[in-house]
Amino acid sequence: MKDNDLFKNAGDRTKAVHAGEAPDKVTGASSPNIVMSTTFITDADAGFSVEGMEEESPYLYTRWGNPTVRQLEEKLSALENAEAAVAFASGMDAASALLFHTLKSGDHAIISDVAYAALSEITNEMIPDLGIEITKVNTSDPEAVRKAIRPNTKLIYAETPCNPLLRLTDIEAIAVIAHEAGAKLAVDSTFATPAATKPLELGADYVIHSLTKYLGGHGDALGGAVLGKKEDIIPLRKKTAIRLGGSLSPFNAWLILRGMATFPIRMRVHEENALKVASFLENHPAVKRVIYPGLPSHPQHELAKKQMKNYSGMITFQTEDPKKLAAKFASGLHIIHYAVSLGHHRSLIFYLNSQDLKSSSFHFDTEKQEDSWNEFAGEGIFRLSVGLEDADDLINDLKNVLE
Ligand SMILES: *Cc1c(COP(=O)(O)O)cnc(C)c1O
Repeated sequence: MKDNDLFKNAGDRTKAVHAGEAPDKVTGASSPNIVMSTTFITDADAGFSVEGMEEESPYLYTRWGNPTVRQLEEKLSALENAEAAVAFASGMDAASALLFHTLKSGDHAIISDVAYAALSEITNEMIPDLGIEITKVNTSDPEAVRKAIRPNTKLIYAETPCNPLLRLTDIEAIAVIAHEAGAKLAVDSTFATPAATKPLELGADYVIHSLTKYLGGHGDALGGAVLGKKEDIIPLRKKTAIRLGGSLSPFNAWLILRGMATFPIRMRVHEENALKVASFLENHPAVKRVIYPGLPSHPQHELAKKQMKNYSGMITFQTEDPKKLAAKFASGLHIIHYAVSLGHHRSLIFYLNSQDLKSSSFHFDTEKQEDSWNEFAGEGIFRLSVGLEDADDLINDLKNVLE
């Protein structure tokens, strides 16, 4: 497993193909075997409590650790230049494990006022019900974050680009604010991926990924991960992954590993296609506004240039009468699927109504926060995950419905 050191100075494409895996020592298999076993033959003196578990302990039980899942954790660590990673059954499992691990009754956390809906919803009620204070802040505004700091602030949680607005957060700036306050910074980097941004190098303490999206990339396996320093990830694994039990299935780990091998080259095409589709939409009379970090019209394009090496494949856009258009998209698109989720090889589009989301998921404390939502989303947005098809075919598919 120390083989990962071999790839320390390699490029991301080499890491994506080779890190974490090696030819099988028994069979010589070049492609990783999948290990579905839930239990492993142990020595007579193996401990039964996770307390005694060392990072290098032999495999004991798959909820504690599994060779196929470990391969994925190592590959991902190599790609994020992280000391350690722990995989979970889904992105939400990873995010909620991190909240349970870092926060206890009496603590305060600052959470992005716009984030993945389920994350927003658990931090609206479930987490505050445990006696943890939560302030929802637009993390794109560093001054707002600084003002929200309290003596008991332990965690700042941001998503960049955030789902669904594609608003960016300056990781370096927020890391400084967090550390001055003695708090940790967690960044959900699902939309950016390590091809665009490596948050740990910018000062974040934790990175969260939904592996279900770009890293797996094929829409066939749920998974999640948290990455960071060994001293933070080892206790996270013991306290949450192993004890709460949201372990990633080895089969899903194997599917995601296979997807990850091609992930850097897929990201290039996602970006190339998204730039073409975003430019087409921006010039279409039926489209009021396009938000894409790679377009000069994105309000934070300068930050995108600084922080994202790849603008990824997510676009949002506003139109007149979006509800009616959503129905037309759902029945009239032939290539793009009208469906939730993102980051797959297939293009996906979905309409998100502002009124609905404001009542279910996003609660704004100030007018400024509400204004920022309205600036990016208006009465509602189409979220388009641009896939790997030919850009011209995607543009024609959209054009046929828009006209
Ligand atoms: C999808 C998503 C999640 C949740 O991931 P699941 O694998 O669906 O649980 C978290 N954060 C972001 C930004 C996402 O897009």
